[in-house]
Amino acid sequence: MKVSLDFDGVLSKTIVQQYASELLSRGIDVWVTTTRASNPRVYVNNEYVDKNQSLFNVTDRLGIPRNKIIFTESKLKIDTWEFQKQSFIFHLDDASVEIKEMANESIDYPNVITTPILFDNNFKQKCELILKLYESRTKRSK
Ligand SMILES: [Mg+2]
Repeated sequence: MKVSLDFDGVLSKTIVQQYASELLSRGIDVWVTTTRASNPRVYVNNEYVDKNQSLFNVTDRLGIPRNKIIFTESKLKIDTWEFQKQSFIFHLDDASVEIKEMANESIDYPNVITTPILFDNNFKQKCELILKLYESRTKRSK
């Protein structure tokens, strides 16, 4: 049971962090997919600062290992997943362009299976619905 969350505007929010922690405690494999660069160093006050430190603070606290954070380096998420052959039960994102690409490109991207979910106030209900559908489908096929 592998799911993916966007970081900026999604997992950066406390309410999503609480949900991610709930998912992890239920044994769900939580990944992060972000368009950020993996090593964005900026020079501040005579030293290089890793701009991802705030992201790692969140993922470390939740217990999401670094190898489950996908940095697309500004590429579309679905393109990166196709290249890495990654699939998720769902992906939660606040960028409608990412959601649109995921919904449109399913034929051209045979390696990627996911249900894109646009982040809004009902995100939790939508995620839970997709998980339930997935569970009932896998139960039926056993
Ligand atoms: Mg975002």
